[in-house]
Amino acid sequence: MIPHLGAYYRPDRLSAALALLASAPQARVLAGGTDLLLGSERLDAVVDITHLGLGGMREEDDALLLGATLRVEELLHAPAAHAWADGVLVGACLNFGTLQVRNMATVGGNVAHALPAADLVAALIALDAEARLARAGPQGGIRWRTLPVAAIATAPFATCIEPAELIAEVRVPARARARRAQFRKIGRVVKDLAQVNCAVALDLEGERVREARIVVGAVHPTVTRVPTAEVELHGADTRGAEWRARVARAVSALRDFIQPITDTRATREWRRHVCGVLVRRSLEWVADPSTRGRVPRYEDGPLYRVGVREARR
Ligand SMILES: Cc1cc2nc3c(=O)[nH]c(=O)nc-3n(C[C@H](O)[C@H](O)[C@H](O)COP(=O)(O)OP(=O)(O)OC[C@H]3O[C@@H](n4cnc5c(N)ncnc54)[C@H](O)[C@@H]3O)c2cc1C
Repeated sequence: MIPHLGAYYRPDRLSAALALLASAPQARVLAGGTDLLLGSERLDAVVDITHLGLGGMREEDDALLLGATLRVEELLHAPAAHAWADGVLVGACLNFGTLQVRNMATVGGNVAHALPAADLVAALIALDAEARLARAGPQGGIRWRTLPVAAIATAPFATCIEPAELIAEVRVPARARARRAQFRKIGRVVKDLAQVNCAVALDLEGERVREARIVVGAVHPTVTRVPTAEVELHGADTRGAEWRARVARAVSALRDFIQPITDTRATREWRRHVCGVLVRRSLEWVADPSTRGRVPRYEDGPLYRVGVREARR
């Protein structure tokens, strides 16, 4: 029993869930509950969306589609997640909480909660993912809109999702499939939220960078792309001294751009330094042809979950 919970609804159709949200503006969407049910605020009504058929994932010609209620642990083991972009989504899932949390936490919940340290969000932004939002339309219909995942969070724990709306699906475009990409995270202990996380992705044409994505979490009020660092890599040759020089410029631009927060997990100075270290290591990794398609494994340990002492170097 959850003492601070009022009415509980568990519809089995999307249109019914949307009608409930439209008729009760105070109702909150409930997915895994790993964020929502932790708070002490009273919840007058919740609409449980885990029986709407919004789980699962599938590949289509132009996209990888992740259902909003797909669990983090399911995503971790999904073959498509392993096949896309060096398994960067797998890397984020591996570094995400404990097995108990991953078994409950959903993809949509990670995007909608707007946690500044959200791990999956960093990887999704590096893949240019979009969220498909649904709300009740006229005569029992559904109105849809699509927003970049990067545009959902507006401040810590605040989003542009309307009270009557929910995320139904997250779509990763096909152009991200072949990206070289990596997620890294550092926390006080392995299972804590990030002190800093990052996801980088490169679109390569031969050895040259066509486009780059550098995304950092837990340093700003929202998970953030760093365009000033990305442009330092555009057109760069990923081999040898040129790449090392370009990476150094990108890291310098990153450290100039970010305005890290100080909180109970780390100071702003520490975050600024470590953020650069994680991004540099990831850029070195994604430029190395021998690591292509090497999906993170739990036993890889420190490569993906960098220890504190290591990160200071
Ligand atoms: C012990 C612990 C460890 C954690 N570790 C991590 C971690 O390592 N990395 C990390 O990123 N996070 C972590 N979290 C945070 C949390 O697990 C994630 O943010 C998770 O993805 C939230 O998903 P959920 O389904 O549980 O969301 P819920 O708690 O059900 O909902 C969270 C918020 O999003 C809204 N919401 C949920 N789904 C939708 C939807 N489809 N459309 C619109 N709104 C929606 C809810 O109304 C609520 O406001 C941790 C949490 C705990 C308790």
